[in-house]
Amino acid sequence: MAAAEHPGTPCALPGTPLAQAGAGLDLCVHCGFCLQACPTYLALDNENDSPRGRLVLMRGLLAGDLDAADDAVAAHFDRCLGCRGCETACPSGVPYGTLLEATRTTLAASRPRPFAARLILGTFRHPLLLRVALAVARVVRGTGLPALLARLPRQVSFPFAMLASTRRAWPTAPYTPDADATGPTVALLTGCVMEGLYTETNRATERVLAHNGYRVVPVGGQRCCGALHAHAGDVESARALARANIAAFEASGADYVVTNASGCGSLLKEYEHLFAGDETWQPRARQVASRARDVSELLAARGPRRGGVVNAVVTWDAPCHLQHAQRITAAPLAVLGAIPGLRVVPLVDSDHCCGSAGIYNLVEPDTSNRVLDAKLARIEATGADVVVSSNPGCLMQLGAGLRTGQHRAQAIHLVDLLDAAYAAEGSPHAP
Ligand code: SF4
Ligand code: SF4
Repeated sequence: MAAAEHPGTPCALPGTPLAQAGAGLDLCVHCGFCLQACPTYLALDNENDSPRGRLVLMRGLLAGDLDAADDAVAAHFDRCLGCRGCETACPSGVPYGTLLEATRTTLAASRPRPFAARLILGTFRHPLLLRVALAVARVVRGTGLPALLARLPRQVSFPFAMLASTRRAWPTAPYTPDADATGPTVALLTGCVMEGLYTETNRATERVLAHNGYRVVPVGGQRCCGALHAHAGDVESARALARANIAAFEASGADYVVTNASGCGSLLKEYEHLFAGDETWQPRARQVASRARDVSELLAARGPRRGGVVNAVVTWDAPCHLQHAQRITAAPLAVLGAIPGLRVVPLVDSDHCCGSAGIYNLVEPDTSNRVLDAKLARIEATGADVVVSSNPGCLMQLGAGLRTGQHRAQAIHLVDLLDAAYAAEGSPHAP
């Protein structure tokens, strides 16, 4: 029962997703343990931009003390990264991510999304538009112009720097995976940004999985996973995309559905929640979600197999949707541990968001920049050559930040690093 739907307590937003999720608010004991885990609270020093403050605002909306059409109230939810660092820090088990999505969905009914958000979400919903947009992006990237424009001040250059940073930093000579014809079958969620701009990382993912005994099966009919839409409160679009993916992965018959993008993997594992109350789709969503794995989980389950020497100093920056949403912490470090020659240095607050957060860096650039600057300063302090992560949004955000800030480190996907190690068997790789 929702907090504001207790007997005798009037609810100003009956029947809305926020009212349905509102029981989660009752778990908050206002202890404040979540505050220091919240990048927007640390950057803006405003309680209303903290998890505890946003929970109080949700309660005010349900009680009718605050107006759902009030832009000043909605701004505090717009400024939330949705990183769920607060969920991991909370000793009371407040389901902050669920509450945030419910709030955004509820507010979207009385308040149009910003134009940039509508444009991006609309493009990702339509396969043809998305294919054209990504093809244009690849052509522009191929001209080298984004890399040149990335030298301009960050205020104007950031989108170009993001695009330039998607070019694979370490080309490797493809090797022949040592395939095991009897291993489990895996279907790769190719993803839209991953397949469109990190195509080589997807191929590297297939190679490293095969080299670790998995049989990769092709899956047609896939769409965008819907994570951007779900996190922005556009649940209907997220469901439409999820239905197509559920049908595609059912047809594949694969033992596992694997992702190399933490944001996509997180939603894939929550597909069941997306179809709550839907008797047809929820069981199908549950079945597919139960087979979903991050690539690091599958690799760690096999050791993973050790590679050749890669001489580099690296640091691991945990994607929020891997660490906080999927609660995966050990598997990526096991993958790094399989690469001889690496010196892995710890990154202070590696569990804090980098400020990417889906389309957040494009629609909330000021706060995103502040969060990013804190991250870049900590990366610089490690002295690492390479920042390793495993989500396209994080890699673009970190890559652009490192470029525009003239830092020497590069941002590289975890799988690309392991792929380089397998390619280096017999001849050491150095950045
Ligand atoms: S840590 Fe949890 S219980 Fe404590 S204030 Fe934050 S959300 Fe509430
Ligand atoms: S999701 Fe992230 S930004 Fe939002 S309140 Fe929680 S810790 Fe702060």
